[in-house]
Amino acid sequence: MRGLVEKLGYLINPMFLNLSSENNQLLAFYFHGLFETMRHKSMNHIDPQQNMTVAQFDEFVEYFLDNNYAFICPEDLHSKISKDQRYVILTFDDGYFNNMLAIDILKKYKIPAVFFITIRNIIENRSFWWDVIYKFRIRQGHSIEKVRKEQNMLKLLNYKKIDEYLINNFGADSIKPWSDIDRPFTETEVRSLVGNPYVSFGNHTFNHTILNDISRDEIKKEFDESNRYLVDFTGKFPASLAFPNGYYSNDTLKVAEEVGFKYAFTAEPRKNTLPVNNGELIRLNRFMANPKKIRNYGSFYRLGYTPGTLNSNFKRFIDSFKLQKTIVRNKQ
Ligand SMILES: [Zn+2]
Repeated sequence: MRGLVEKLGYLINPMFLNLSSENNQLLAFYFHGLFETMRHKSMNHIDPQQNMTVAQFDEFVEYFLDNNYAFICPEDLHSKISKDQRYVILTFDDGYFNNMLAIDILKKYKIPAVFFITIRNIIENRSFWWDVIYKFRIRQGHSIEKVRKEQNMLKLLNYKKIDEYLINNFGADSIKPWSDIDRPFTETEVRSLVGNPYVSFGNHTFNHTILNDISRDEIKKEFDESNRYLVDFTGKFPASLAFPNGYYSNDTLKVAEEVGFKYAFTAEPRKNTLPVNNGELIRLNRFMANPKKIRNYGSFYRLGYTPGTLNSNFKRFIDSFKLQKTIVRNKQ
């Protein structure tokens, strides 16, 4: 079913897009890691999630430039927005060293991106916990379904419990990265990117802590501790933050505003309508990028859908149609 809806979407979406105006909309995307080559992907040093190769990332950017989107950074939302223009913001979550592969592309097209880095992984050269689970379990022969189940169970624990779990299951050395494919940035690498006109850094908490179910004090501590390093590394207070896993609560938003962030990036797959409000914390929806052929799936995003949301909307439509038929039948 999902495949069919996607295929139909590829045919129908471009027609809709010709009719509808895409202007005054902002699409924000989030990436995690990038792969230099498909061979690096097949080495299983990292959970591939929806990661692209550099070549795919290049195509991705080209597609939106061809469709007359302007690439901006969050601060441009107040100064550079003109009416009847469409915009894209690129973001990279977590702080993988492999994000360095994006820098040449940003330079080539003269476009900005925000890098949301997890400070503890950087200062301790720790692998990201979901990659530790993935690479050890795949090597042990576990199925991807089993790996996802284990990762989902761990997502609900705090970072101390996750640390314990990794040590108990895979040993004290398991958090050591295997290669440049899975390691985080070093502090020196972050500092080397400061002043690059296409790069800015944002807060992704200190411990990659999920923020929707902890006290205000704990939320504040995660933001402040991370900001202390970000200010030291970059000489600048970060304007943006991205919630780990996209999870947040009203408390999270309140604390984020108090701490002084201007832009909070979620993982809700929707477009943003422009102009944004001035003054308060601005919440921005983001689509997750994926490695399918951009010329096919890009039109979903330009309409404000992911193939996944399109499929669930279609299902809901069919269900409501079935329900109406039942009601009519019952009345007869
Ligand atoms: Zn993250």
